[in-house]
Amino acid sequence: MMEHRSILMGALVVLLGLCGCGKHPGDQAAQPAPPPAAPEATVEKAPEPESNENENITEAPIVQQDPAEATPEATELTEEQWRERLSPEAFYVLRQKGTEPRFSSAYNANKKQGSYLCGGCGAVLFSSVEKYDSGTGWPSFWQPAVKKNIATVEDNSFFSRRIEVLCAKCDGHLGHVFDDGPAPTGLRYCINGISLKFAELAEQDQEKDKGEP
Ligand SMILES: [Zn+2]
Repeated sequence: MMEHRSILMGALVVLLGLCGCGKHPGDQAAQPAPPPAAPEATVEKAPEPESNENENITEAPIVQQDPAEATPEATELTEEQWRERLSPEAFYVLRQKGTEPRFSSAYNANKKQGSYLCGGCGAVLFSSVEKYDSGTGWPSFWQPAVKKNIATVEDNSFFSRRIEVLCAKCDGHLGHVFDDGPAPTGLRYCINGISLKFAELAEQDQEKDKGEP
C-alpha cells in the first residue's frame, strides 16, 4: 500500500515538474524588431545611353551638357579655330612651324623675372631662371621650367637634322633645341618669342626670391 502511494507521489512530482516548469523563456522569443525602413532612393541612376539600333525608342534620355565641358580643349581645336585664337604671326609659328625673324621678339632681351607660358594653351614652359642671352636673336633657355610640358621630335627639314621643341599640351611649335648651350645642361632651347606669353612675377614675390625679409 505504501509502495503504491509513493509511486503516486512520484508520478505527481513528475507531473508537477512537467507543468511547473512554467513558460520557457525561449518559447516565445521576442521577434526581432523589423529593420528600419530603408530611405527611399531619391537619386535615380541616369539611364545608360542606348544604341540607336532600336528605332522604337520614343523617350530618349535628356542629356544636359555643361557648356564649359562642351568647349573643346586646346588640343582639339581645328586649324580654323587656331586661326581665330592666334595672331597671324603666332599662328604661323605655333601651327605652321614657322620661325620669327631674329631679334623680332621683345622677349629676346627680357630680363624680368617670371614664367614663359605657351602662347597657344597657356601651359608653363620656361622660366626666367633658366633664360640666358645666347646672342642668336631668339629667346634662349638652357632648360625647360616644366619638362613634362615640353615635347621634342626629330626635325629633318631644310636638309638639316635638328630637334624640334613643341608644347606637349597643344602640340604647338616652339623652336629647336641644340647642344651648344651653357652649363649645367649644355642645351640651348632656341624658342620663338611669338609662341610664348610672359607672365611677370609680382614685385613682392621678386623681393621674396632675393631672400630679403
Ligand atoms: Zn601649348
